[in-house]
Amino acid sequence: MSRLRIGVLAVQGAFREHRRALERCGAEVEELRRPLDFGDDVFKGLQCFDGIVLPGGESTAMGVLLRAEGLLDALAACGRAGMPLYGSCAGLILLCREIEGADGKLVEQPRLGLLDARVRRNAFGRQVDSFETFLNVTDIAQDLRAVFIRAPLIVHTGPDVEILAEVEREETAFPVAVRQGHLLASSFHPELTPDLRFHQAFLDICRNRR
Ligand code: GLN
Repeated sequence: MSRLRIGVLAVQGAFREHRRALERCGAEVEELRRPLDFGDDVFKGLQCFDGIVLPGGESTAMGVLLRAEGLLDALAACGRAGMPLYGSCAGLILLCREIEGADGKLVEQPRLGLLDARVRRNAFGRQVDSFETFLNVTDIAQDLRAVFIRAPLIVHTGPDVEILAEVEREETAFPVAVRQGHLLASSFHPELTPDLRFHQAFLDICRNRR
């Protein structure tokens, strides 16, 4: 079987780290910047990929840039057509149907809106801005070191969303890794540790969709 070909959105954020992790898993990786690189019909151009990664960074900046570049709609169309997409942190936010600010109020910002979930940005507050913990992620990894950086929390999920891992906040468990068929998302950054199990799980989804 030929190598999996994965696109990594590279307009902003932690895309190099994803690239490295995916390459270490044996995938061929291309950075996605300008839609023009993919011809007149961007949606069609993107079909050469087996899956696409939306990295962490700043979801507002990324969303605005993606929209300006005309990539946002093309990516959403790819996702609707069944292309596997993985979003980490800001990438997760971009995938979600509803986004709220740290105060719990809904905000309007450019997004793909494919994952049937509501997410709260910067949900951990100032004091615990960034932290690490170990998670058991269903079907993917036991004791996975998870790095959270100004991370979002998923506050609601629809019926088709499978919760793979949770963290406790004030005696409530919140999902931090979810899957909805070909869509995978995590609040944390597996690309910042040497552990490849999360990326391997995404590549398995891509392989099964081939
Ligand atoms: N706080 C960022 C946002 O809301 C996400 C942080 C990250 O991707 N590490 O977009």
